[in-house]
Amino acid sequence: MQGNIMARPLLISGLIEHATLTHPDSEIVSRRCEGDIHRYTMKEAAQRSKKLANALSRLGAKQDDRIATLAWNNHRHFELYFGVSGMGAILHTINPRLFPEQLVYIINHAEDRWLFVDLTFIPLLEAIKDQISNIEGFVIMTDEAHMPETSLTNVLCYETLIQDESDEFEWPEFDENQAASLCYTSGTTGNPKGVLYTHRSTVIHAQAEIAKEALDIGSYSCMLPVVPMFHVNAWGTPYAAAMTGAKLVLPGPGMDGASLWELIETEKPDLLLGVPTVWLMLLNHMESIGKKLDSVNNVVVGGSAAPLSMIKKFQEDHGAFLVHAWGMTEMSPLGTANAKTRLMDSMSLEERYQLQLKQGRPVCGIEMKIVDDSNNEMPRDGVAYGRLLVRGPWVISSYFKNDDQSSFIDGWFDTGDVATIDPHNYLGIVDRSKDVIKSGGEWISSIDLENEAIGHPELIECCVIGVAHEKWDERPLLLAIRKEGSNVTAEEIKDYLSDKIAKWWMPDDVVFVASLPHTATGKLLKIEVRKKYHDYLLKAENA
Ligand code: ADP
Repeated sequence: MQGNIMARPLLISGLIEHATLTHPDSEIVSRRCEGDIHRYTMKEAAQRSKKLANALSRLGAKQDDRIATLAWNNHRHFELYFGVSGMGAILHTINPRLFPEQLVYIINHAEDRWLFVDLTFIPLLEAIKDQISNIEGFVIMTDEAHMPETSLTNVLCYETLIQDESDEFEWPEFDENQAASLCYTSGTTGNPKGVLYTHRSTVIHAQAEIAKEALDIGSYSCMLPVVPMFHVNAWGTPYAAAMTGAKLVLPGPGMDGASLWELIETEKPDLLLGVPTVWLMLLNHMESIGKKLDSVNNVVVGGSAAPLSMIKKFQEDHGAFLVHAWGMTEMSPLGTANAKTRLMDSMSLEERYQLQLKQGRPVCGIEMKIVDDSNNEMPRDGVAYGRLLVRGPWVISSYFKNDDQSSFIDGWFDTGDVATIDPHNYLGIVDRSKDVIKSGGEWISSIDLENEAIGHPELIECCVIGVAHEKWDERPLLLAIRKEGSNVTAEEIKDYLSDKIAKWWMPDDVVFVASLPHTATGKLLKIEVRKKYHDYLLKAENA
């Protein structure tokens, strides 16, 4: 027997309508590419989203058309989030950090019709314009006064495009399973793969993430998502802002420590969200100016593992709790969050820090399990580790226009991560399955080693890879960037690690480098590092 409840569709337009009626005065503050700070209200944002929807209709945009953006976190991008998806078209957010050939690939693969671009990224498009002929035109996200000279053709100005449009627009109603937005993975190997989110998955994901148990976002919140709107929808924060009326502070191109602090000092966010590399820059900046992040209560850190030194620094220097979270593009992205619990209050700080190192518990709606090579489920004892599989209403079921089903196993998605799950359902990411170091049949977590090494006060970034070894197959090699002026030696680093890790985990050598390669989402590009150093120990032995 079916229940008797209305089957109203969950649509993104519903979020912005709710925001207009419920939180019209909530503020959205952005650092613009033009250089200044822009501020307006949710109501104004909603009105301009409708003007945009009218303008897109005039340009001939229809349901399912892909409308692309190449833009920072700013108010116009926010309007595109609601205007494009709200009218039934699909918002394709493009990551400007992809290589030019990947940009060409995804723009063509997605069959984008119009592309909205921030001033900063125009040169990226000029360099590839002859290879993206499916694009009918470009809309530069600025006003007439700031329109640049460009070799792009069919160019419109955003403010001119919407200025004479009506701010009345009747959002169409359609099936909630219709596609709303598209984001490509950063593709460390092969071409990027597209993840096509639905209206339903987007709304449910936002609903789940605002929970106190997850990211704790409410009308009292003022959040600063440094995590970009050009990748996995800034972890859903624009939708969460519309849902709750939280004040939104958008950093635009200013992701460095000084620019972030400038916004934090004036706007006083209590919730920050971003990847560890961004927080390293901010923490270094705060140390150099000797100030505290007084307004900040919680810092959500995901994308890569949060090191112990960062958890401590936020807590002890700034009184901020680090909410360690894990997810991926294929999961919209939130999978788990390590929110504060009552139990944590009764722990010693050291015990609590150890727990915070874990990636947290599944956000309600996400199921997860670990399996062995034959796909048999392994125990949730916090010790056994295996391949992590997930399923849930905001988890991918297949890649966009791609027949590869190798990641999908009996209704579960294989994350490519190796993990433990403990009896309280806390997830501990051991490593990416391709990064874990297989030494003499035992596994060493490159992430754990990096996290210990980065605790050394004279190092600013660390990367551990498995390199070929005659006896043990693979052994860990640590590559590290020293702080300016530091002469710390390999032996000193090993000494520092000696009481922190098992003896057989000790890196065979420490190599100091000037820089390390990163993916388009700021993660270490270990595939490149491995290529370069694969034979490092063999050469050393034969030398
Ligand atoms: P995003 O681009 O949003 O960072 P990706 O899909 O590129 O997501 O990468 C997801 C992968 O990042 C995960 O499968 C995992 O390996 C890694 N990751 C994400 N969060 C964490 C975390 N808190 N700790 C360790 N690894 C993480």
